[in-house]
Amino acid sequence: MGVEDFDLLVVGGGKAGKSLAMDLAAAGQSVAMVERGMIGGTCINVACIPTKTLVNSARLLKTMSRAADFGIAAAGTPVIDVDLLRARKEDVVGTMVAGQRKAFLASGMDLVIGQARFVGERTVEVALDDGGRRTLRGTNVVVNTGMVPFHPPIEGLAGANVLDSNSILALERLPRSIIILGGGYIGSEYASMLATMGLAVTVIQRAASLLPREDADVAAAVEDGFRAAGTTLLLGEEAVRIERAGDGTVAAALASGGTVTAEELMVAVGRTPVTAELGLEAAGVELTERGFVAVDDQLRTTADGVWAAGDVAGTPQFTHASWNDYRILKANLAGGSLSTRDRLIPYSVFTTPELGRVGLSEAEAGAAGLDIRVATMPVAAIPRARTVGELDGVWKAVVERGTDLILGAALLGHESSEAIAVVQMAMLGGLPYQRVRDAVISHPTMAEGLQLLFSDAFLQA
Ligand SMILES: Cc1cc2nc3c(=O)[nH]c(=O)nc-3n(C[C@H](O)[C@H](O)[C@H](O)COP(=O)(O)OP(=O)(O)OC[C@H]3O[C@@H](n4cnc5c(N)ncnc54)[C@H](O)[C@@H]3O)c2cc1C
Repeated sequence: MGVEDFDLLVVGGGKAGKSLAMDLAAAGQSVAMVERGMIGGTCINVACIPTKTLVNSARLLKTMSRAADFGIAAAGTPVIDVDLLRARKEDVVGTMVAGQRKAFLASGMDLVIGQARFVGERTVEVALDDGGRRTLRGTNVVVNTGMVPFHPPIEGLAGANVLDSNSILALERLPRSIIILGGGYIGSEYASMLATMGLAVTVIQRAASLLPREDADVAAAVEDGFRAAGTTLLLGEEAVRIERAGDGTVAAALASGGTVTAEELMVAVGRTPVTAELGLEAAGVELTERGFVAVDDQLRTTADGVWAAGDVAGTPQFTHASWNDYRILKANLAGGSLSTRDRLIPYSVFTTPELGRVGLSEAEAGAAGLDIRVATMPVAAIPRARTVGELDGVWKAVVERGTDLILGAALLGHESSEAIAVVQMAMLGGLPYQRVRDAVISHPTMAEGLQLLFSDAFLQA
């Protein structure tokens, strides 16, 4: 078969690409989307959706084990049933994947299941999953191939059959103990969830703190919560050799001497952009030094007609950021000039309790030379936290002196991933902190806690 031409060719069906493909196909354009197997992309199959489903079960277990605190006399000790846990996760994921497949096909796009590789300008060859090959060319091409877990070159690691954020989801049984290499967002989420499920968790983290991009006091509050849950934190520590012993356990030898042992080890030390085997040089698409597709602020690559979006384009690694890339792409493909600059991109880390973040941290605001005031408040001060018995955590916000504008917030505590959106809206609306403090907010809600946070009791003079 010769080259097949399309108005739009999407390579990798991530959040940005699939959304654009559906829209333009539904609008009557000829669209092909190549996906190598994960219908709906990383988030739905192996990332946000399955992990947050599991986090919810872990939290439920925790709440059930405290049933008496809530006036409920529950019989027996609640335990995780791995088969039921997996079935629920697969039900949530499977339902979403099926819904996506249906929506893709209904849009009229040509959904091509296989591995794409560029062979020329705006042209890919696809090794189809069911055998055979197709060569596809787009007037416009969007690269949205995402990232995969990075396995560091630590002696012995490659042969030790270790887990990563993909393979851990396929475990048939829960180990009693696990070492997690890396205390960033993914490592911390998994550590918190698995400890809540009752595993003995050890985190080996090279940086001096968990979540090293956060303010030191926020990271310390997260660490306190981990230690209280029984997690061992080896901070400022490095694994230099990994070995799977004859009895099936994994041992990690530490740079400082000594060894930690557990039934399993999970690597969570970062992710690699999927560009290496994509043949992008054949299409004239340049990469950055770190292997991402180089794009300008309008998501154009160095090749005419080729665009890139999501993780692979160096966009902050969140599904909602990739989704915003889709909006930018859609406008720019139609002749617009939307930019990725100055986006306010919040994020949430689903540890227990969870962290909602938006804007500048105190350290970032300080480094930018801004004159700031900082508000810090224990979550226990919020009436809603009392009613639900979730008192752990601390809320923090940074305000610019003079303008009174909110520069950022780090909310660690119950339902903070929801409350952070309130701060984000205030920031987007350019509201001074007093407008949030003096607003009428439903009682008793976690969001109402913002009124306290911005009050004289907690905002420094
Ligand atoms: C464990 C974990 C938890 C996370 N939790 C959250 C969270 O709670 N909230 C959040 O916002 N973000 C979270 N993230 C990050 C989020 O998953 C990513 O930022 C997001 O999925 C990136 O989407 P994307 O659009 O870049 O592409 P992706 O969704 O990564 O899609 C890329 C697609 O391209 C396909 N592909 C790759 N190469 C080829 C090829 N050669 N041919 C054909 N197809 C190809 C892949 O199969 C994949 O489906 C999490 C990530 C992980 C790992």
